[in-house]
Amino acid sequence: MKIICVGRNYAKHIDELKNEKPTDPVLFLKPDTSVLLKKQPFFIPDFSSNVHYEVEVLVRIKKVGKFIQEKFAHKYYDQISLGIDFTARDLQQKLKEKGLPWEKAKGFDGAAVIGQHWFSKENFTNIQSLSFHLEKNGETVQQGNTEQMIYKIDQLIAYISQFFTLKIGDVIFTGTPAGVGPVEKNDRLEGFIEQKSVFAIDVK
Ligand code: ZN
Repeated sequence: MKIICVGRNYAKHIDELKNEKPTDPVLFLKPDTSVLLKKQPFFIPDFSSNVHYEVEVLVRIKKVGKFIQEKFAHKYYDQISLGIDFTARDLQQKLKEKGLPWEKAKGFDGAAVIGQHWFSKENFTNIQSLSFHLEKNGETVQQGNTEQMIYKIDQLIAYISQFFTLKIGDVIFTGTPAGVGPVEKNDRLEGFIEQKSVFAIDVK
């Protein structure tokens, strides 16, 4: 199983990090060892003093595919969830400045939170119009809607599959909306799709 992440897919988040708007989707991978194990807290790694949460809608691949056409992309997934792309922002910044890959800042152990619940896309009238949000200690810190995505889910699947064969069980992190920020010890993060709670994790 691999995790494919999309960067810079919401305009307001691009602005808040002062990044350039991409001309193609920005992709990076997280290893399977980055998945935070079920019911485990997230431990802030020693190498960072500025770990950020990024709440993102997740898509799970159900069929092997390469060079998938956008019009057929919907056949390759039927489950969606919500997760966090934890990012060591200080380390990422240093790597970006040097033009180096981001993996250490985004692929460390525990850096990929995958929701405890997956929802069939049939549960929703339109998955490109889903609201989601993240609460930190009971306060909403990030709020988004999939209609704000620059590249929609079907476009992402078509694009990704030009480079990486998609396999059953692969998970796509579709990018974060504005409002990213740091976590501290003893924070509690809870993610929601519409009003359904999808995950709750403790930061240690
Ligand atoms: Zn992200």
